Amino acid sequence: RVKEKWAVTRTKYPATTLALQNFDATYSVQLGQLWPSVRAALLSERKYGALLNNYCHDDVQAELQAKGCKDFPTDKEIEVQPCLEQEPEVAGEEESCRVSVEKSDPDAQQLPPLQLSPNIKCLVFPRGDITRFKPARPDMFGCLGYYLMDAASVLPCLALNVQEGHNVLDLCAAPGGKTLALLQTKSIGFLCVNDTSVSRTSRLRKVLQSYVPKPFLSEGKLRITSFDGTKWGEIERNTFDRVLVDVPCTTDRHSLMEDDNNIFSKNRTGERRRLPQLQLALLLAGIEAACPGGEILYSTCTLSQVQNLSVVEQAIHTAREDHGIHLQVVDLRPLAHMFRKTFQFAPNLPLGVMVVPHIAANFGPIYMCKLRRLA
Ligand code: SAM
Repeated sequence: RVKEKWAVTRTKYPATTLALQNFDATYSVQLGQLWPSVRAALLSERKYGALLNNYCHDDVQAELQAKGCKDFPTDKEIEVQPCLEQEPEVAGEEESCRVSVEKSDPDAQQLPPLQLSPNIKCLVFPRGDITRFKPARPDMFGCLGYYLMDAASVLPCLALNVQEGHNVLDLCAAPGGKTLALLQTKSIGFLCVNDTSVSRTSRLRKVLQSYVPKPFLSEGKLRITSFDGTKWGEIERNTFDRVLVDVPCTTDRHSLMEDDNNIFSKNRTGERRRLPQLQLALLLAGIEAACPGGEILYSTCTLSQVQNLSVVEQAIHTAREDHGIHLQVVDLRPLAHMFRKTFQFAPNLPLGVMVVPHIAANFGPIYMCKLRRLA
């Protein structure tokens, strides 16, 4: 605590104001006419989704449905748009790192619709309904019925398309919302959960213990580590069928709401500027950790093009040039189309898809891009 009267070190603006100034300058250019409405939503109360716990014995889904909630993954639009090639192409200052991407099958329109990870259920109140969820209750064995999280954060887990017996790595996993969503698939052969922060990893461990019965968390099924994820390629290369790289970012919504521990505070300027570098190193490590044919999902909770598109473009380029790893971008636009009733997606992104906050569907921001290792 500082006494306002005497504080010589007090900065002129709180970190939340600095964040808003930064966003106004960059996102008004990046999002154009969309920015004023996204800005209003970001400054308003966010909406949560209830990730249903398939390990809980109570019929929580029926309870929530009786209150008007819908499970958004099953409430999807089934008519799927043709799979079109997605080219990384950006205008503006990030053009320097533009790369060409392996073209997928020219007969892309014949490809089967995008496959999603099974069994993940997330209940949300309808558009415009801002009812809050009550805290989850434990069942007779102490397992909580649901986990409250931004419903858009479930999308990267659905998009990862985990299949039976897969070996999965969650490289930046704490506090564990996405790990928990991945475990709901009940399909994973072995799950490696990592986060460099020891305190956040122990929080993750507690989250898992509150939701998943012990036998499913045994050593044969799950490993929790606190390594520096950027070094993963040196530890375990060419190993995982699926890799989730949910990187640290400017966490736009949090940065507008909380002055404490805010990445826009003056004493964290260096750390903030180094974020794209760290994100790139983490994505490259995730790419190296995936096996040939394996899939990597990069995600953030920022609208920043420099932390999203530019990082992915640079990673594709560096993987090919420095590591001889060729990647194919998996088109996630069918997923955006499927879930357009629940979320607002940014239009015409050259690479990946992004949920942008909307006052009537106040989820996100979440950016995600999926890559497939060819060799
Ligand atoms: N996936 C998590 C979830 O759904 O709950 C959220 C992850 S959060 C966006 C990013 C995480 O990256 C933070 O917990 C942070 O501690 C971790 N992190 C930062 N640098 C890292 C590194 N070098 N290696 C691994 N994890 C790192």
